[in-house]
Amino acid sequence: MKMPDSWMYNPSLEAVSRDVIERIQLERLREVVHRVYNNNYHYRLKMKERGVKPEDIKTLKDIEKLPYTTKEDLRVTQPFGYLVTPFENIVEVHGTSGTTGEPIFVYYTSIDIENWGEIMARSLAAAGLTKRDVLQITPSFSLFTGGFGFYYGARKIGATVVPIGPGYSKRQIYVMQKLGTTMLAGIANYAIRLAEVAFEMGVDPSKDTKVRKGVFGAEMWSDSLRKKIESIWNMETYDIYGMAELYGPGTAIDCQYHSGLHVWEDHFVVEVVDPRTGDVLEPEEKGELVFTTLTKDAMPLIRYRTRDISRILDQKQCDCGRTHKKIDRIQGRTDDMFIINGVNIWPTAVESIIMGDPLVGNEYQIIVEKKPSEDILFIRVESVTKLSEDAKMALAKKLAYELRERLIVSPIVEVVDPGTLPRFDGKAKRIIIKDVTGLK
Ligand SMILES: [Zn+2]
Repeated sequence: MKMPDSWMYNPSLEAVSRDVIERIQLERLREVVHRVYNNNYHYRLKMKERGVKPEDIKTLKDIEKLPYTTKEDLRVTQPFGYLVTPFENIVEVHGTSGTTGEPIFVYYTSIDIENWGEIMARSLAAAGLTKRDVLQITPSFSLFTGGFGFYYGARKIGATVVPIGPGYSKRQIYVMQKLGTTMLAGIANYAIRLAEVAFEMGVDPSKDTKVRKGVFGAEMWSDSLRKKIESIWNMETYDIYGMAELYGPGTAIDCQYHSGLHVWEDHFVVEVVDPRTGDVLEPEEKGELVFTTLTKDAMPLIRYRTRDISRILDQKQCDCGRTHKKIDRIQGRTDDMFIINGVNIWPTAVESIIMGDPLVGNEYQIIVEKKPSEDILFIRVESVTKLSEDAKMALAKKLAYELRERLIVSPIVEVVDPGTLPRFDGKAKRIIIKDVTGLK
C-alpha cells in the first residue's frame, strides 16, 4: 500500500464525528473520576473539599466542578502520591525535571505504554512518517520522555529507528548521511546546532542529507525560528506537544496544514484557563492549558495545570479530515514570562521579532537586569555573517525599534559576530535574569 506523506494512523478515531468524540470523552471522564476518587487519597480529599462527588459528572461541562491538579501537588506528594495502581503493575518510570533539579516521577503500566505508542504513532503519521522512513531520534533515552516516546510511536509505524540520543553532533551528521535519515526528531534548537556543525564539516544539510521532515518539541520555538530551520534544512517541520505528566510527547501535533496542533481528544480533555484566577476561558482566548487524561492508567491527572500558554482554536473543521480540536502553538510558559517595568513579556515574542530579520543569525541572549529604579532589557543577537561596526549599529537600531513598536519595551540591542554566543546540545538557556535590587 502506498501511503501519502501525511496520513492517519487510526482514521476510525482521528476522523470520527464530534458527537462520537464527545461521547467517548464523557464516558472516559466519568470512569477516570470514579477511579481516582476510589483509589487515591489526595483526589478524594480535594474533591470532598470542593463538595463534588464522581456522580456529579453528568456532562463534559461538569469537568469545571473538579479541582485542579498542579505540578506542586505532584512535587509535595512524591514519589507515589498520585499513583492509583499497585506499584507491581508499573512497567516503566520517567521523570520531569523540577526547578529544584529533583525529578517528579511519572509511572506507566503496560496499558499506558500502549496508549502512548498509539498517540505518538498518530502524531508521527501526521508528520508523514511511514515504514519507508529512517527516523533519527535525538532526545535522550532516559528519565526524560523524549527518546522513548518517539521510539514507541515509530515502532508501531514500522519506520527504521536510529536511537542516537543527544550530543555528538559530528557523529549525528555522519550517521545521518550514511543511513540516509529522512526524518529528524528532537528539540528545534538542536536542529539549528546540528546544521552549524554540518556546515563546519562541509556538509550542506539541504543538499547533502536526505532529511526532509522534522518533528520538534519540548521547548517553545517561534514561527521565525521555524522558517529558519525549514530553509537551512529544506525540510517541513511539525510542532509536537506533550510533557512527562501527560505520557510524554504526543499530546498534540500540527498536521500538514500547519494551522494549530490537533489534541488527541479521545485521550485528553483540553481546557484553557486564566492563569491567575483559574476561570475557564472561551475558544480563541489566550491562557494556561489544562489537560485531563482520559486513558492514563497508572497516574491519571485531573485538570492538570501545565503552565503553558496557548488557546483553543475555534475552527470547526480541518482540511486534513481530523476532527480533533486544535490548540495554537505554545506562546510561552507562565513561569518563563518576565516582567520589564510592569510589562509582561514572553521570550517567544522577542524571538519571533529578532529571528524574523534576515540579517540575524542562529543565537541570541535575553538579559534582564532588575534594578531598584527600573528594569533594563539587554538583547544580544548574532548576525548571520560578520558585519562591519556600522552595519552592526544599524541592525541593532532597527531591532530595538521593532521591539519597541511591537512589545512596548525599550531594550538595548547589541549585535555580535556569528559563533560568539553559547551553544546548547539540549534545551537552550537564553534568558538570564540578574537581580541587582539587593532584595534577593
Ligand atoms: Zn488538520
